[in-house]
Amino acid sequence: MSWEKIGIMGGTFNPIHIGHLLLAQWAMEEAGLDGIIFMPTGNSYLKDKTEMLSGSERLAMTRLAVQDRDCFFCSDMEVKRGGNTYTYETLESLRHIYPQAELYFIVGADCLFSIENWYCPEKIFKQCTLLAASRGSTPLQELEEKRQELAEHYGADILLMAFPDMEISSTDIRRRCREGKSIQYLVPDSVREYIIAGHFYENL
Ligand code: NAP
Repeated sequence: MSWEKIGIMGGTFNPIHIGHLLLAQWAMEEAGLDGIIFMPTGNSYLKDKTEMLSGSERLAMTRLAVQDRDCFFCSDMEVKRGGNTYTYETLESLRHIYPQAELYFIVGADCLFSIENWYCPEKIFKQCTLLAASRGSTPLQELEEKRQELAEHYGADILLMAFPDMEISSTDIRRRCREGKSIQYLVPDSVREYIIAGHFYENL
């Protein structure tokens, strides 16, 4: 892959939905990225596991979701690595594979308020620019203050990008499956078919 500016869209993706795909698309245009690596987590150790599909199932859904786009690529790195998923390890591995590339880790902007509790945040900030999508739930001034604080404390390079509020979440999609409601238009058709065929999220 000869990409020079690489976006990394990390997620539990349980399941991946159009909010994730649009966020990646938006980030690409906003930061002029060459492409996006979608990175389903191995073990999201901070998340409730009650409704969690296996890594291989979440990986399969993510692959289906991005298969039609040349500039979207799905990596099995975190699922294969096993154990708790730490973003700094992923970024260090990617840095090794793409020594010259600029790495952009894409997140919802509220993550600026929790990232210091992630494992080795200083190593995360060292390896990438954080591309944080502000969805209007947090006032821009608060985000800007936090951005500056992280920049001063860690030398973090953070780009804030405006992103439309979309009330789509994996939690809501799982709830709809449980209640026998349609998830059409919320996830790509290929992902919806995979979920229906596997009877996923129905009886969790
Ligand atoms: P997720 O729930 O699948 O979400 C993935 C990303 O999409 C998040 O940044 C999320 O932002 C965003 N998103 C979801 N719905 C959206 C919508 N409707 N509109 C716009 N954005 C939307 O994944 P996650 O469990 O939060 O994990 C995200 C990444 O953080 C993963 O790569 C994970 O490994 C990493 N992480 C690392 C550590 C660590 O290294 N110790 C700890 C925690 C997480 P919001 O969260 O704002 O919804």
